[in-house]
Amino acid sequence: MKVGIPRALLYYRYGRFWEKFLTGLGAEVVVSRRTDKVLLQNGLGHVSSEVCLPIKIMAGHLEELAGQVDAIFLPRLLWLEDKLYACPKMIGIVDIARMMFDGRVPIVAPKIQGSLWLPHFRAGMELCHDPVRVVRALARAGRFLPVHDRVPDFPAGEKRVALIGHFYNLEDDFISRPMVDTFTEHGYRICTKDELPGSVLRSRQGFARKIRWVYERELYNAFRFLVDKVSGVCVIVSMGCGPDSLVAEFMREEAQQQDVPFLQLVIDEHSGTAGIVTRVEAFLELAERRRAAPRAA
Ligand code: SF4
Repeated sequence: MKVGIPRALLYYRYGRFWEKFLTGLGAEVVVSRRTDKVLLQNGLGHVSSEVCLPIKIMAGHLEELAGQVDAIFLPRLLWLEDKLYACPKMIGIVDIARMMFDGRVPIVAPKIQGSLWLPHFRAGMELCHDPVRVVRALARAGRFLPVHDRVPDFPAGEKRVALIGHFYNLEDDFISRPMVDTFTEHGYRICTKDELPGSVLRSRQGFARKIRWVYERELYNAFRFLVDKVSGVCVIVSMGCGPDSLVAEFMREEAQQQDVPFLQLVIDEHSGTAGIVTRVEAFLELAERRRAAPRAA
């Protein structure tokens, strides 16, 4: 049986786990190709123009898999520990997929509420009906869940910027390449939330406690952790994303209070590379000045 996984959204956190799990069940796994303009264009017709870029990209990946596979594996994340919810658009992507395919392609959509294991076990049973094999496949795949438990080093004198954005934006080259390349060409190390340990990202200290969206809390905590270790903070916000724009405003305010250069890049399908590069270079000039200036006590 061929099972497709769209290379978008949660794939960038759980993709390896899913691939190993499905392979362990005996499925042939097909992951959609990397995002490109054509793939995005194919997705645009399936979703409202009002939704954020990552959802439009997901629609393109779903479209790409249709006709290639016997089923699509698309877990629906409702909430993780501490009852922190995914955003409504992410929760609703399974319904968008069902509307797109109108029954032509079965969607296997374990509903994640707190724990990963039971929903994945049930999904495994839908696909292979052998509980022993499902448990074994899950146990083996569990080794491929991302674990970050080490705080990275921040050597004195190093040129660093924080690039704050969702993993599905930063790890999709189609979205992040212009920023990443520009920072790298200027000799900056890029610090992201995905290199920080869970104890930092899950912190409930201060304003973080009030954020009830799971990935927005991670963004904010990463910002708080990194802001005094970098010469500037660049935040990627998806056009049409309420949670991103709200939390980014709090970050902007706190960065200004600490006199740290702050750049908010709002991205959608019309964002051109040249415009992004120009803004990042202007931001880096400020970051250079910040590096040259003595830090306030
Ligand atoms: S959090 Fe924002 S960017 Fe992410 S899926 Fe939801 S609306 Fe889109």
